[in-house]
Amino acid sequence: MPNYRAPLADMQFLLRDVFCAEELFAAMPSTAEVTYDLIDAILEAAGDISSELLSTINQSGDAEACQFLNGIVTTPKGFKEAYTAYAEGGWCGLTGELKYGGQGMPKVLSALIEEMIFGANSSFALYAILTTGATLTLNQHGSDQLKQTYLPKMYKGKWSGSMCLTEPHAGTDLGILTTRADESSDGSYRITGTKIFITAGEHDLTENIIHLVLAKRPDAPKGPRGISLFLVPKLLVDTAGNLTGQKNNVVCGSIEHKMGIKASATCVLNFDGATGYLVGELNQGLSNMFTMMNYERLSMGLQGNGLAESSYQIAAAYAKERVQGRAASEKQQSARLADPILVHPDVRRMLLTMRANILAGRALSLYASSQLDIVKFHPDAFERQRAGQLVALLVPVQKAYCTDRGFESCVLGQQTLGGHGYVAEWGLEQNVRDARIAQIYEGTNGVQALDLAGRKTVRCNGELLQVLFTDIDGFIAAQSSVRSLDPFIAHMEHTKDLLAKATSILLTDALDDPNAVGAASYAYMELMGLTLYCFMWLRMLAAAQQALTQDAGNQEYYDGLVKTGEFFYARLLPRAGALVNEIKAGPATLMALKMEQF
Ligand SMILES: Cc1cc2nc3c(=O)[nH]c(=O)nc-3n(C[C@H](O)[C@H](O)[C@H](O)COP(=O)(O)OP(=O)(O)OC[C@H]3O[C@@H](n4cnc5c(N)ncnc54)[C@H](O)[C@@H]3O)c2cc1C
Repeated sequence: MPNYRAPLADMQFLLRDVFCAEELFAAMPSTAEVTYDLIDAILEAAGDISSELLSTINQSGDAEACQFLNGIVTTPKGFKEAYTAYAEGGWCGLTGELKYGGQGMPKVLSALIEEMIFGANSSFALYAILTTGATLTLNQHGSDQLKQTYLPKMYKGKWSGSMCLTEPHAGTDLGILTTRADESSDGSYRITGTKIFITAGEHDLTENIIHLVLAKRPDAPKGPRGISLFLVPKLLVDTAGNLTGQKNNVVCGSIEHKMGIKASATCVLNFDGATGYLVGELNQGLSNMFTMMNYERLSMGLQGNGLAESSYQIAAAYAKERVQGRAASEKQQSARLADPILVHPDVRRMLLTMRANILAGRALSLYASSQLDIVKFHPDAFERQRAGQLVALLVPVQKAYCTDRGFESCVLGQQTLGGHGYVAEWGLEQNVRDARIAQIYEGTNGVQALDLAGRKTVRCNGELLQVLFTDIDGFIAAQSSVRSLDPFIAHMEHTKDLLAKATSILLTDALDDPNAVGAASYAYMELMGLTLYCFMWLRMLAAAQQALTQDAGNQEYYDGLVKTGEFFYARLLPRAGALVNEIKAGPATLMALKMEQF
């Protein structure tokens, strides 16, 4: 049975050598006490939970799946015990508000932990991250009364959270949702409607589930501007935060039978005049919900990275053991009839593609997380604003590019095992199935690309991109005396020029043709992703080269990083040029066919 191991050395390299996390935390009073010693202890504990508690019920959870009977959802064997242990370990409130019993830890740290949990057991991770997303939204937009009533038990893991947006006819287009909110005389609301695909909408892991639901008042403006956000508990709660013993009018109608994440309950929820409480202002529901959606989107990228890492661990170990064919070079192992498949260049291509993208994807996730921490904790208003702009730009790219690369890595891992990758025993086929959903939920990757090219680029005339370019230029300037980085800096500057050129094509074409943004969006998102991976590799190479001169004890490790970075620049980055050509091609060939020609 495959067993996930947290990649602690890689994570510590990023935190210490690349992002200098302790310095960042020291600059912000709320995180000043988060030291490397504390981080190491927390990461190690999370690593133990991932491999010893969660990884061990991953395959059995997939095989057994969630069960549904008469409105009740039962999670697979071992999940309830694991969730209780996870909650008792304090993990549910790790980043929560101190005032309500959270631990106030930064996102940079929790992002790495989320990646581990997704890598060990993606179905389990979803119960945890939905709760964290719900508490974040409640803490940011809820009244003091709502926060006091619900947050402490959610941070303790006694109650979990869910996010109820999607309806049968309203997926990407939430503006047309029809769930209704009627105001009662006591100021609460009666929520009526059907939500589908609700992750963790019903289960047996916690004593209560707190649903965050998008709905509209009957007199609300049409479209997205009329959407409000409501908190709807599964079991009713009094103002002191205790269960009243009464059920709310929300029931689970069924669960979905799906390709992967089978131990995660994906529910149809029927709200029939359920009691709900307004969160934030009326008609601001969609923008308030974006707190949760931005958080969850980043988590989906972490799901991609985590499953990619898990796949790499299995595939790399297999490639050292499995012997097939002889090495083309003279370095054959004469004692054996065949050599380990790791001698073959094509097997190395697969493993190095995985490793190069995993490291860059993790670095990008930390880069985005560090900006989220600055937005939340930094004392300087200018720094907060700059970081907020970067977050807006990075989130759709991190979500789409890391989940695409994550799925690709799972498939490459499967391919590395040949036929053994296709059968259940080795865990790769489960990883492929579990990784696939991350490209779809939380807004499909196509919609992320549209968000990036449209709202985050054309609508602000490329202003957000300039914030990123300033960061890249600042890093290059700081490294200008390091001669060994020259070839990589040249690649970075060339790629940045390509992205600037593609952006100017996009901005110009958007003026002439209403389909121009949609036609360019996916290639544009990929080009942005590749540019960001290039920037992340530049930062990793700078840190690894420096460590090679200073850390005599870990030469092999840093040398391996440098060689992986060189592989990225030589073999993965060249795709950037092709993406610019794709963007240049414009919408003509996409829109040429008539509907009936499809
Ligand atoms: C396992 C699972 C778990 C989920 N969990 C949750 C959850 O917890 N809470 C929740 O609320 N929802 C959840 N969802 C719903 C999920 O977020 C939606 O399925 C997703 O956002 C896409 O919506 P849709 O399925 O209605 O597809 P549609 O919106 O119908 O889209 C279909 C296709 O058209 C494309 N498309 C749509 N509009 C546009 C456009 N304007 N421009 C270009 N392309 C477009 C899409 O990219 C996609 O390829 C979950 C779904 C699944 C399968």
